[in-house]
Amino acid sequence: MSVKDLTILGCSSQQPTRRRNHGAYLVRWKEEGLLFDPGEGTQRQFIFAEVAPTCVTRIFVSHFHGDHCLGLGSMLMRLNLDKVTHPILCYYPASGKVYFDRLRYSTIYHEQIQVVEYPVHKPGLVHEDEKFRIEAFALNHGADNFAYRIIEQDRRRFDTDKLKKQGVVGPLVRELEEKGELTIGGHKVSLDDVSVIRRGDVFAIVIDTLPCAGALNAAKGATMLLCESTYLDEHHDLARQYMHMTAKQAAKLAKDAGVQQLVLTHFSARYQDLSLFAKEAKEIFPNTFVADDLKVFPFPKN
Ligand SMILES: [Zn+2]
Ligand SMILES: [Zn+2]
Repeated sequence: MSVKDLTILGCSSQQPTRRRNHGAYLVRWKEEGLLFDPGEGTQRQFIFAEVAPTCVTRIFVSHFHGDHCLGLGSMLMRLNLDKVTHPILCYYPASGKVYFDRLRYSTIYHEQIQVVEYPVHKPGLVHEDEKFRIEAFALNHGADNFAYRIIEQDRRRFDTDKLKKQGVVGPLVRELEEKGELTIGGHKVSLDDVSVIRRGDVFAIVIDTLPCAGALNAAKGATMLLCESTYLDEHHDLARQYMHMTAKQAAKLAKDAGVQQLVLTHFSARYQDLSLFAKEAKEIFPNTFVADDLKVFPFPKN
């Protein structure tokens, strides 16, 4: 599966509305499914989105306000019911371990799945494997809250024509990859002669914060930034009071961080017309999209 996209399972803030579910965001990244901040009703939103929950391989919780985690227990239970055989890697602020455990074991539950926890104790590198490098950045929201930056590992892509021309075939390809250079028929072939490095994509999620250095650093040069914009600029005083951002501030963040694409989410229930968020943000950052339940945003080409 070479799909790489963001599915909005919900885009409300604290309070859901008739049209907007509690937040939850699925990034399908090739064979992995990264689920961010599963709020209430996430399990059912998968059905509406026509995506099998079993695709979830990692779950991220930014902080333990209810709209960002109340669906965690039911998602784990669903994966258990579906008898997934792959491990579920969970990332969350370490100070919220008590909430994580409560949500995970909130009902009668015979756990069969393998849940691997990565509590985030401090900003910085959280976890790295052959697919991703996962970094966390402290946000400013009055509760322990992390932005996540998911960096796809760079990959070498071979040019089949060049391989053929240089006589690198069959097991020689792997040998060249391991050694970096081979001598074939008396001439030297290096990796760079027959391949290029493809820079990995970067996905950043900044949810529930005042504008801050952590948000900026998490978003730097991201392929896609999913950012909260709870309020419009007309309510910037409320944004400050409740430690949130406006669409204008999110757009400025995207611009300052040099991201490729911005997706706005986490809208206050007071707003009906989400196009106002796009209008406000696009004046500062034109490549802005506005989330809505069940919308899908493919990653832009980098
Ligand atoms: Zn929230
Ligand atoms: Zn919050």
